[in-house]
Amino acid sequence: MKNIKDYNFEQLKQELINLGEKAFRAEQIFKWLYQEKVKSFDEMTNISLELREKLKENYTICNFGILKKQESKDGTIKYLFDILDGNAIETVLMSYHHGYSICVSSQIGCKMGCKFCASTGINFIRNLTSGEIVEQILAVEQDTGVKISNVVFMGIGEPLDNYDNVINSIHIINHPKGLNIGARHISISTSGIVPKIYRLAEENIQCTLSISLHATTNEKRSEMMPVNNTYKIEELLQACKDYIAKTNRRISFEYALAKDNNDNLEDAKRLVHLLKGMLCHVNLIPINKIENGKFTKATNENIMKFRDYLNEHGIVATIRRELGSDIDAACRTIKKKKFVMVPGLNAKKLAFKPGTIDNLKNNTNQTATTFIHNTL
Ligand code: SF4
Repeated sequence: MKNIKDYNFEQLKQELINLGEKAFRAEQIFKWLYQEKVKSFDEMTNISLELREKLKENYTICNFGILKKQESKDGTIKYLFDILDGNAIETVLMSYHHGYSICVSSQIGCKMGCKFCASTGINFIRNLTSGEIVEQILAVEQDTGVKISNVVFMGIGEPLDNYDNVINSIHIINHPKGLNIGARHISISTSGIVPKIYRLAEENIQCTLSISLHATTNEKRSEMMPVNNTYKIEELLQACKDYIAKTNRRISFEYALAKDNNDNLEDAKRLVHLLKGMLCHVNLIPINKIENGKFTKATNENIMKFRDYLNEHGIVATIRRELGSDIDAACRTIKKKKFVMVPGLNAKKLAFKPGTIDNLKNNTNQTATTFIHNTL
C-alpha cells in the first residue's frame, strides 16, 4: 500500500480527486498529519467515516518504531528507527541556542564510499521515500514534544543521489500546511554530484547547499572521496559558482581536517585560492577516526591555525562544534564506528540488509545492524 506521507500537498489533492473526493480534503489531512501529528486515520475526526475507511483501504500512515534511543550529555539524541520493512535508519536531534535541529538520513546505506565515513563498506540497499524522510522528523517531534526548526540532510546517504524523493520531502517539510519549516532552515549536504547541483539550482528552493570538499588537490580528494574521480575539484567548484550566480545563495563548504593529510598551511593557502571571491562559508570539522579508517583528527593547534589563515585571507571559516560525541553522533561524515551493537544481542558480524530487524527480534545469533551516522 502507498504511504500517505509520500505525497506533497498538490499530489495529495490529486490523489483525493482520483478517489472521487474534494481536493480541499488534502488540507485537512495535511493538518492532521503534520500539525496534529496523529498516528492513525481514525484520529482525523473532522473527516467523514466513509473517507477515513477509503484512506485506510488505500494508504498506510507509516509510523516508525523506535528501536533504540541514546541521549548525550549535551542533549543530543540519536534514534535508531524501525522503518517497517525490516531495515533500520538513524536520525539525530541536536539542541542549539537557536532551536532544535534534526539530521535526517536519505538512503539506507550509501554508494559514495568516502574513506572517512562510517557508511563506507555498508551495502547500499535503497533510497528512502519522501514519506520516510518526513517521518523521521515527525517521529522525533512525537517522541520529544519539541518543535524542530532546522533540518539537515547529513545522515546516512547522499541526498542528491536520491534527488526526487529528497526534493519532494522538502516540499512537504517546507509547506505552510505541512511541517512549515522555512526553506532557509533546510540544508542539503552533498559529496559533489555535479549534474545534480545544476539541477538543484533550477528548483527555486531557498535551502542551503553544503559541499563536502575536504581537500584542495584532486590527488588528495580522490583519495578521500571516490566521487572526485568522476567530478574533479575544478568542475565541482564551477558548478558551485554557477549555483551561486543562479540562486544568489551562499554555499557552505565542509572541510574535515585530518592530521598530516589536509591540515597544513599549504592546504589552507590552496583553499583560499580555490574559494577566493565566492559567496561562501567554510565549516572546519575536526575529523573523527572511524574503525579501520586511515585518517585521524588534526591537532587543535593546527585546526585553529587553519581557521585563522582562512579568516585572515578573506574566507569566513568556523570550527564546527562537536555534539553527541559520547554517543557516536558527532559529524555525519566522520563517524567513529560503523555500527552499534544492540544490547543483549550476540551481534558480532554486522550486515545492513533487509530482514535485519526481524533477525534482531527473532534470532539473537543473527547479525544485527544499526548503522550509526551523524550530525552537525
Ligand atoms: S560522507 Fe555522505 S556521501 Fe560520503 S559515504 Fe558518507 S554518507 Fe555517503
